[in-house]
Amino acid sequence: MSTNQQTDTRFPPSPEDRLYAIVEQGMCIGCGLCESLAGSDVVQMQVVESGFERPVAVGPLTHESVDAIYDTCPGTRVEGLPDNGAVQAGSSFDLVWGPYEQFVEAWAADPAIRHEGSTGGVLTALGQFLVDAGEVDFILHARAGGSDPTFGQPHVSTTSADVREGAGSRYGPTAVLQTVHAQLDKGRPFAFIGKPCDISALRALARRDARVNALVKYFLTPVCGGFAAPSATEAFIENHHGVQKADIERFRYRGFGCPGPTTFETRDGVQHSASYTDYWGEDEKSWNVPWRCKICPDGIGEGADVAAADNWPGGSPDPETEADDPGTNAVIVRTKAGAGLIQRAIDAGYLSTGATLNADHMSKVQPHQVKKKQAARARWDGMAREGRTVPRTHGLRLDALREPLSDEVYAMQRDGAAARVAAGKATEARPKPKR
Ligand SMILES: Cc1cc2nc3c(=O)[nH]c(=O)nc-3n(C[C@H](O)[C@H](O)[C@H](O)COP(=O)(O)OP(=O)(O)OC[C@H]3O[C@@H](n4cnc5c(N)ncnc54)[C@H](O)[C@@H]3O)c2cc1C
Ligand code: SF4
Ligand code: SF4
Repeated sequence: MSTNQQTDTRFPPSPEDRLYAIVEQGMCIGCGLCESLAGSDVVQMQVVESGFERPVAVGPLTHESVDAIYDTCPGTRVEGLPDNGAVQAGSSFDLVWGPYEQFVEAWAADPAIRHEGSTGGVLTALGQFLVDAGEVDFILHARAGGSDPTFGQPHVSTTSADVREGAGSRYGPTAVLQTVHAQLDKGRPFAFIGKPCDISALRALARRDARVNALVKYFLTPVCGGFAAPSATEAFIENHHGVQKADIERFRYRGFGCPGPTTFETRDGVQHSASYTDYWGEDEKSWNVPWRCKICPDGIGEGADVAAADNWPGGSPDPETEADDPGTNAVIVRTKAGAGLIQRAIDAGYLSTGATLNADHMSKVQPHQVKKKQAARARWDGMAREGRTVPRTHGLRLDALREPLSDEVYAMQRDGAAARVAAGKATEARPKPKR
């Protein structure tokens, strides 16, 4: 990332300066990989004053460690599938949706998992199949909690019951890669479920650590429009229910329906509930997501074997009918490995499939993903104009995706991003531990 690699030799940046530049430029997504790479005695994910989990240097950080972080961090590098045969002859391709084997409607065959899952429980069903069939020893994914009940945390599942505990979407900070080296050290096959940016980070790590391709048998992801700023969740709790966030014991964003209610419980056992629309607002413009999510070039899991999405026409649930929606994922089967996994999960009775879909359908149920992919080049050009970080990419087609935009729309997106940077809306404070 050339703009972050400062070259003023009069004041060479320290390793800490370089690590913190990722955060200060709003590009940290809080995945936790830097802690895993550098070691938790050197870098630790901590809740900082902004309310996010951010890396804090707690020991002697070296330039060599920071080089490794810059080479893999999803704030400095974003990549799709590797050039190692993951995309094979006969795969199909769409400019927006990338390489794919198939788009298909699917849901967990077990009605209880379909109900509990975020959408139709596809990712949980695949994880359960993999551990029950002995294809992997465990799944590295996420479950609720950790530093805060509204956050997520890494979760290692060795049984179907463990996998089920992770069902649902975590819309709070979730450092799912915080322990990935400890998982690799086990030397056992596993599958990984994480957001597209987490998948990108793990694919990037594979270039430096041969154990990733040897041990990570499947890369599975939810399609992702961004997670919520902790301040937004706090305001939601206080504005809608008059409860203080500090009194919350458990928080669930969705699931138990599609999308299912946003529910939480206070320490004295009082339950509160709101709808998905109450939580997120009526449309994308009301989403309070981190800067890195706003300029994300890949919310569709370009590097995953299988990506599972919502399947609502127009991209939002219909409040009139959502209570009766049993949950159906629109699934992107991206690789041959993913196609084999889906077929075996169907044969073993874990997964059910419906209609075959196409790229046009995906664009209709994910209009915000299409807009974001087409606008990424312009937004990054606006960031670069302000001297900001522009991550290195591999396989993301950003220039070709920009083509359908008129010059006027391109300029509006570019100038809008530049204006936000100039106004300090893409800047975070240097991480300081929250006292
Ligand atoms: C932050 C976020 C934003 C999303 N935005 C969109 C969107 O814009 N459009 C869309 O179609 N779908 C979006 N989703 C995906 C959607 O909510 C469902 O997760 C997806 O359809 C998979 O549904 P499922 O029923 O198969 O998942 P489930 O069977 O419930 O399984 C979900 C799996 O994902 C893991 N997981 C959950 N949250 C996280 C997290 N934060 N980090 C890492 N792993 C996690 C869980 O551990 C679990 O294994 C988003 C999900 C997340 C987490
Ligand atoms: S995005 Fe991940 S690897 Fe990059 S600085 Fe943040 S926590 Fe570390
Ligand atoms: S929008 Fe992009 S950066 Fe944000 S959480 Fe989703 S995949 Fe990661």
